[in-house]
Amino acid sequence: MAWDFETEPEFEAKLEWMRRFVREEIIPLETLAHEFRQPGGREMFAKIVAPLKDQVKAQGLWAAHLPPDMGGMGFGQVRLGLMHEILGQCAFAPSVFGNNAPDSGNAELLSVGGTPEQREQWMKPLLAGTMRSCFSMTEPGAGADPTLLTTSAMRDGDEWVINGHKWFSSNASISDFLIVMCKTGDSEHGAYKAYSMIIVPTRTPGVNIVRDVPTMGEPDHKTGEPGGHAEILYENVRVPFDNVVGGEAGIGQGFALAQKRLGPGRIHHAMRWLGQSQRAFDMLCERALTRYSHGSILAEKQMIQDWIAESHAEMQAARLLTLQAAWKMDQLHAQGKHHSDARVEIGVIKFWGAKVLYNVIDRAIQIHGSLGYTTDLPLEAMYRAARAARIYDGPDEVHKVTVARQLLKRYRASDPPLEHIPTRRLAAQEKFASYLDDIAVSH
Ligand SMILES: Cc1cc2nc3c(=O)[nH]c(=O)nc-3n(C[C@H](O)[C@H](O)[C@H](O)COP(=O)(O)OP(=O)(O)OC[C@H]3O[C@@H](n4cnc5c(N)ncnc54)[C@H](O)[C@@H]3O)c2cc1C
Repeated sequence: MAWDFETEPEFEAKLEWMRRFVREEIIPLETLAHEFRQPGGREMFAKIVAPLKDQVKAQGLWAAHLPPDMGGMGFGQVRLGLMHEILGQCAFAPSVFGNNAPDSGNAELLSVGGTPEQREQWMKPLLAGTMRSCFSMTEPGAGADPTLLTTSAMRDGDEWVINGHKWFSSNASISDFLIVMCKTGDSEHGAYKAYSMIIVPTRTPGVNIVRDVPTMGEPDHKTGEPGGHAEILYENVRVPFDNVVGGEAGIGQGFALAQKRLGPGRIHHAMRWLGQSQRAFDMLCERALTRYSHGSILAEKQMIQDWIAESHAEMQAARLLTLQAAWKMDQLHAQGKHHSDARVEIGVIKFWGAKVLYNVIDRAIQIHGSLGYTTDLPLEAMYRAARAARIYDGPDEVHKVTVARQLLKRYRASDPPLEHIPTRRLAAQEKFASYLDDIAVSH
């Protein structure tokens, strides 16, 4: 079995190009975010990034998440993970690489679960970057337990009629279409078989985008700006029957398809969090070497050294866990198996990665003192955004439940415990009786 932590030189050269490109061409755009929110700002942003996208395409790095037969670069999860670590440094970077959530996840979903017509109509424009999409599942009354979702789709001749109330539908208010998780059947074959995903063009009558919910991450977010989390009322929304993802065969497959979408997405999230963590870590170390207090620079205080060592260890552990999960997914894919066999690895990186992100940014703020709390540094915004990582894509607790349940399947109850020494000693005495007979044992 090969154990290899190296990246092929050709791909390492691509990663090096990405590091420089993100640092020099994309990160500087962050400080102009205010301008991009003014009237005409989005058009200005589009003009600035158009030539950057061309450079990415020329490097063969555009939409790397899909297999070549679907129009992507077919990087596989390990390479994609390494790439996302770089893109994660800056919120603008994924869109410049045609790899931004939720569009990339929705394109992956349609590539594995969509009909040929759905791929043509909805996936190709996502890949080309000419359409935006949204994944609309969570409801005010149900999130972590999706079997409680109530939005319904009833068949009426050649159409679905959708009614329900969703929220946290990211990017809905700027999207061209929504992929809506709907209850399409009863639970007679199990609660998880009662749901289907239905493609709804955003401008369909009855799709009522109530607002983008202001959040801790973006308290002054305005409806219709990128990155919003929409509250939506679906009121007698009619779409063609063929809009169910996967066609007739996709009915009742909503959760099975969601898993296909979410698995790779979690690798990408975790690696993007590492990109953010590394940025915070760099700021932490820079400040440690710069700030003088109580007779020395902060870097010479043991407590600060502890933060640096702990942060590095946590980040490195998160990185290795994530890349190993990505590697396992690639192996499963090569064997024609589903990545659900990597659910322990994927669950672990979700909660561990989110915690590391939060810890490292927190320490970076602390070492900067009051400066860390100001908007003169990006840390406070990074901190607010990081808090959501413990909630979205399933809260940490739910992933821990999955991990623990899977791990427990490897064990069985035993009374007395398998390691019970008197019991083991009796067994050993029986096993080695012929030898023991020869010696006198003193008690
Ligand atoms: C920034 C952001 C973006 C999002 N984008 C999207 C999106 O694009 N599309 C979409 O559909 N949704 C989106 N969501 C919603 C997200 O997926 C849900 O918030 C998440 O699944 C949790 O659901 P909930 O908020 O209803 O929490 P609840 O289900 O009410 O859970 C609340 C808390 O209860 C605890 N809990 C729940 N179950 C268990 C359990 N079994 N054991 C122990 N504790 C438990 C956890 O602490 C959990 O945080 C987004 C959320 C955020 C914050």
